Amino acid sequence: MILENYIRDIQDFPKKGITFKDITPLLGNPVAVKECLSMLVKGLEGRPVDKVVGIESRGFFFATLLARELNAGFVPVRKPGKLPFATLSSAYELEYGTDTLEIHTDAIRAGEKVLIHDDVLATGGTASAVCSLVEKLGGEIVECSFIMELSFDTIPKSV
Ligand code: 5GP
Repeated sequence: MILENYIRDIQDFPKKGITFKDITPLLGNPVAVKECLSMLVKGLEGRPVDKVVGIESRGFFFATLLARELNAGFVPVRKPGKLPFATLSSAYELEYGTDTLEIHTDAIRAGEKVLIHDDVLATGGTASAVCSLVEKLGGEIVECSFIMELSFDTIPKSV
């Protein structure tokens, strides 16, 4: 099964000049979801994971499935003001300006093995901000996994 066939290009979304990789056809197909999940799990090569961190919002889809599959807990990383408990924040650079992501301070215990997941890796700014949150809480990052990396269009991609 070629997973690329379930990801479509949307021209000029969310703004003119951007070609957006839309994963909703993949999400809507249970066979493609199963295949993608199994490739993401395979990339871990059996390494144990205590927590799967999903990045708002499209990272949540496979991060929750991965958590279930790996018998790990799920941790949401969200945009500012969305998490109800005490949070730790990390600001990161965008092409124009900055953005911030937050995690609950009790979401990860020191020494826990953490898988970070998002749908797309582009510049890596988002993932690197999340790595710093996880590390500040004492988590041990096992891997950052993605469905695709924009520069190479490789699906799924793990780093
Ligand atoms: P980065 O921080 O690596 O430059 O960008 C990755 C973030 O932007 C991810 O959270 C991802 O959801 C979002 N993103 C950027 N471009 C696309 C795209 O074309 N399709 C999707 N689905 N997400 C994108």
